[in-house]
Amino acid sequence: MRSGTTGCVTPDTTETPRPGRRAAVPARPEAVLFDRDGTLCRDVPYNGDPRRVVLMPAAAAALRQLRRDGIPTAVVSNQSGIGRGLLTWKAVHAVNARLAAMLGGPVAFHVCPHVPADECDCRKPAPGLLLTACRTLGVRPQRMVMIGDIGADMAAAAAVGARGVLVPTPATRPEEIAAAPEVAPDLLAALAHVFSASPADPDLHRAASPAAQMISSIASTGRRAAAPLGLA
Ligand SMILES: [Mg+2]
Ligand SMILES: [Zn+2]
Repeated sequence: MRSGTTGCVTPDTTETPRPGRRAAVPARPEAVLFDRDGTLCRDVPYNGDPRRVVLMPAAAAALRQLRRDGIPTAVVSNQSGIGRGLLTWKAVHAVNARLAAMLGGPVAFHVCPHVPADECDCRKPAPGLLLTACRTLGVRPQRMVMIGDIGADMAAAAAVGARGVLVPTPATRPEEIAAAPEVAPDLLAALAHVFSASPADPDLHRAASPAAQMISSIASTGRRAAAPLGLA
């Protein structure tokens, strides 16, 4: 398994900026929030078995880097399996503990146990989990980055005024990649991007891994259709 590809991140200067995109360089983040399933570990639906936790590429390296740099982190995770009766809190805690151990240190988890029909204010794309994480960390949402693998993570980030970076998997919908404010091929590339001081194009398109090529091709073909998502 790859350990990360930060060295190959190059902004695609041939890309036309999307409508509604701010040109200003975002402030350096003070905290990083992560989605869990499909972002830090493989998405195993309703997984309550710690033995089935498999890290995503670069997850351990990303967390190691953030700890080294003193950047606080938290995980914000929808676990509707609890509300559906398919998972117990105990099982979710066991999976989280296993994930934290594999990531090499303590990790703060904020979990929504609800199903969509509950219409709670914590299930992403609602902002509740992110706001709780912000309060716990003592960081303003505007100074946070949310990294996730689907559109709901980006929508939750937008809802609280945080910066959102999508790290897609093959399961991520093309339209969600096209609509994402920023896209990176893996977690280390996402961190390199958001902690970079250089005023780079917010889009990351590079040509190293097959996944990166997939992202690049999907994002560029989906770009025109995404135009209405710009701020009107
Ligand atoms: Mg996910
Ligand atoms: Zn909830």
